[in-house]
Amino acid sequence: MSVSATPSMASAAVRARMVQRLAAQGVADARVLRAMGTVERHLFVDSALVNQAYEDTSLPIGLGQTISKPNVVARMIELLLGAPALANQPEERLGRVLEIGTGCGYQATVLSHVAREVYSIERLRGLHERARVNLRPFRLATVHLLLGDGMIGYAKGAPYAAIIAAAGGESVPQTWIDQLAVGGRIVAPTQSAAGGQALVVIDKTQAGLQRSVLEAVHFVPLKSGIA
Ligand code: SAH
Repeated sequence: MSVSATPSMASAAVRARMVQRLAAQGVADARVLRAMGTVERHLFVDSALVNQAYEDTSLPIGLGQTISKPNVVARMIELLLGAPALANQPEERLGRVLEIGTGCGYQATVLSHVAREVYSIERLRGLHERARVNLRPFRLATVHLLLGDGMIGYAKGAPYAAIIAAAGGESVPQTWIDQLAVGGRIVAPTQSAAGGQALVVIDKTQAGLQRSVLEAVHFVPLKSGIA
């Protein structure tokens, strides 16, 4: 009888190496490392790119858009889990999360492992439909894929424990702040003073908003309207 590794065993080993790399790069949250080790990233990219699925690189997903690098996905979700309402609760899940920019649905799937409910909005019909196909086999009852303009958020799911943007705008729209729960956190790439993009974290506390600007990043632009 043959004892050769099945493709899924092989992908588990490659994924485990990716998780080790993420940890070495500074991702420390066990919830994030577990989720990154679970979700099969290769199932979200074109078959021609499967061999690069676990490399530290962003990849094209069609219609001029890209799936973010694994370490950017992990870093942003780790930041979300640092929301004030979850402080010092290393095993707790986030409540409802809103994701702007579903793309291929990879990050929404990772989020479903650390949050109770995920609402993910995409403005491009082709990608929204592709994400539906990608997610179908996982039967994730807690992930809601929506076609719409994420600039106006999604009022029906509000208030959110966390909001994460996968596309960068000039500033964080007021609607996102309005739809965020007290104790919640927004993590979004936003145009920086220097002309590039930086990750911005906004915490909503009883005392008001707290805004921090973190490292430089490179995301596709946040655009309004549906196409
Ligand atoms: N999280 C995705 C990354 C997708 S790239 C993944 O895991 O694959 C960012 C996505 O944001 C693109 O698909 C782009 O079409 C979408 N986008 C840009 N502006 C948007 C908006 N206003 N509302 C919803 N989606 C938007």
